[in-house]
Amino acid sequence: MSEAGYNPSALGPQTELSRVVGAQSAKVIHGAFGYTTVSELLGHVPRRYVEVGEIQPISELPYGEDVTVVATVTHSSQRKMHSRRGFLLEVEVQDEDPASRGLLKMTFFNGYQAAKELLPGVRAMFSGVVDDYRGAPQLTHPEYTLLGQDDEAEARPFPVYPLSGKLTQLRVRRTVETVLDGVDADAFPDPLPAEVRQRRRLPELSQAYESIHRPHEVREAYAARRRFAYEEALVLQSLMAERRMLDRAREATPRPLANGGLLEAFTRRLPFTLTEGQLEVGEQISHDLAQPHPMNRLLQGEVGSGKTLVALLAMLQVIDAGGQAALLAPTEVLAAQHAQTLRTLLGDLALGGMLGAAEASTRIELLTGSLPAKEKRGALLAAASGEAGIVVGTHALLSDHVQFAELGLVVVDEQHRFGVQQRDKLREGAGPTPHLLVMTATPIPRTVAMTVFGDVEVSLLRGVPAARAEVRTFVVPLQLPAWRERMFTLLREQIDAGHQAYVVVPRISESAEEEDPERARTGEGVDEVQGQRTPLEAMERVLREHPALAGVNIGILHGRLPAETKAAAMADFAAGTTQLLLATTVVEVGVDVPNATVMAIIDAESFGISQLHQLRGRIGRGAFPGTCLLVTSLEHEHPAVERLETVASTRDGFVLAEKDLELRREGDILGASQSGGRSTLRTLRVMRDAELIALAREDAAALVRPGWRTDHPGLAAAVDSRVDDSEAAYLERA
Ligand code: ADP
Ligand code: MG
Repeated sequence: MSEAGYNPSALGPQTELSRVVGAQSAKVIHGAFGYTTVSELLGHVPRRYVEVGEIQPISELPYGEDVTVVATVTHSSQRKMHSRRGFLLEVEVQDEDPASRGLLKMTFFNGYQAAKELLPGVRAMFSGVVDDYRGAPQLTHPEYTLLGQDDEAEARPFPVYPLSGKLTQLRVRRTVETVLDGVDADAFPDPLPAEVRQRRRLPELSQAYESIHRPHEVREAYAARRRFAYEEALVLQSLMAERRMLDRAREATPRPLANGGLLEAFTRRLPFTLTEGQLEVGEQISHDLAQPHPMNRLLQGEVGSGKTLVALLAMLQVIDAGGQAALLAPTEVLAAQHAQTLRTLLGDLALGGMLGAAEASTRIELLTGSLPAKEKRGALLAAASGEAGIVVGTHALLSDHVQFAELGLVVVDEQHRFGVQQRDKLREGAGPTPHLLVMTATPIPRTVAMTVFGDVEVSLLRGVPAARAEVRTFVVPLQLPAWRERMFTLLREQIDAGHQAYVVVPRISESAEEEDPERARTGEGVDEVQGQRTPLEAMERVLREHPALAGVNIGILHGRLPAETKAAAMADFAAGTTQLLLATTVVEVGVDVPNATVMAIIDAESFGISQLHQLRGRIGRGAFPGTCLLVTSLEHEHPAVERLETVASTRDGFVLAEKDLELRREGDILGASQSGGRSTLRTLRVMRDAELIALAREDAAALVRPGWRTDHPGLAAAVDSRVDDSEAAYLERA
């Protein structure tokens, strides 16, 4: 891209769309997808391609075969269906062959898009299998692509784009073609270094744009798609590699294991032995802490897997080595709980400076915004003087200018909203960087971890120490009345045996459209499902009136209740006064009643995999085996039931998280499909492209060395422009 050869009319990646396609079209595109530049539009990748065959005259269409015709709509009408919901769109077309002038009928069941697009006079290319409708040829739900009046009909695969708003396929395709026609290859520097492109056999950028939008064969489009996915992976992995490089250059105070300190005293009196997993992860962390560079580690393990204990061991090692530790929780309530747990675990080892303290001891301070001023001052002082070995608080702890005498380790608990920038915040400031341990109970599949936490060492803590009771899970089809009755019998049996039960419903009332803001935002589970969503009100009537549950004490819990009512409902259930708790997903978090042995999740298909897993985690917490019923009114063949079978098949959160990714339509977990079809990961799909991500990681590790930004300016620029985007969306979703 030399200055001399600069051609002002040629399109570069940053050229405004309005300059190319006109203000009106640019506005429509912006409204639908949020794109303003040429490169954004060219990055609008087709969802799929329809392969077409030879174009045939309608009069010669062979029955039962896959055909392609080019024809003009002569008639279009809609009919309501009698037997099922929806409508039937009937379209008649005529082709241009003057010899045949054949008429062809087409039908579309619930063809909303087709009803808008296939109006009389519209010309299109149709593909489908010919069936015989009362002696005349008919296409049922043909694939089609709109053509202009004088478009050459070419038998190439046609792209099918994601649409949004009022846009039609034709409009998107036209706009993309206009832009493609003006692309000047020289104005599009390729972010992929040439040697990497050759080694991985990937097409060059402007060629790839052409191939993905206007392929001659589908194979060509796939090769281009692979290139974009790889590019995306390489950009992300280069970002991570650069961060790892910078981390290695940072200094931290080494905190090696010491003899005869708190850690030793604590482990000696632990009432149980550490699990193999805890020992292994504990050793990794202990080793990291002894290095002169900051630890940057993510510890994943399900709730109850013993992460807090592992973190405590790390904190004690740091304290023994003269440092302090900060433990950050997502809310003040959780912070207070943590402080309490740590004090209980440490006993007299945490009475530093007080009467009855053990010889080697420290102090744990809770420091949150809602503390009374006097206590807060005391805690601040203890942090600043170094008397407090562990300070527990929320994230505000680090931003509120709390002074530490010698902060050596930051532990972040249960925080999935923790992207690259959040991690950076913790490391701002002068002096040595504290070691960092982030803990999460949300299972993050390997390729996702590589993509989002690629700069971080990841440790897995599998299993749970206190062998938890077995929980059996069944899918209960409401279509079979016997199953429905068995559900009530089971509830009764467990209650009679002195246990308790949960019944979970997807929403509160008929009128309340969406009681669960979280789910409304992520849309998890609701998309493809046409099942019912029984409201709590209706379920309450069913439960109260069912003879099997006569005399059972039923409690109600949902998000709309006043805080005190909610607290009372939880307390009654915890105390056992309430035998059956009818609730919305609010029970997903925080409720811990080991005596509860059965959970019936009504209209289970309206929940996502991970949500079902979290809900089920409420039972089997004690010594008693549990039963989880995933109740659905859908037929067994319905695709959403597959999700339920998956949940029923395993209790391993990691396995479920991976399944979840596979089953989601776009598989885009970092996905921000909410923002008008734009997602952070455009071409890359973390499950499908696992192998590409691994290759890119390898290449990035080799490329990113001191000075790499000068050697590969295109790649460096792509990295910089990606940071903000991917961060924002990841955090939004988390
Ligand atoms: P997490 O933070 O991963 O949810 P915790 O560290 O809170 O898990 O541990 C859950 C429970 O298991 C706690 O009561 C803890 O004391 C206990 N625990 C932790 N490690 C062990 C172990 N090795 N053996 C038995 N119980 C353990
Ligand atoms: Mg914990």
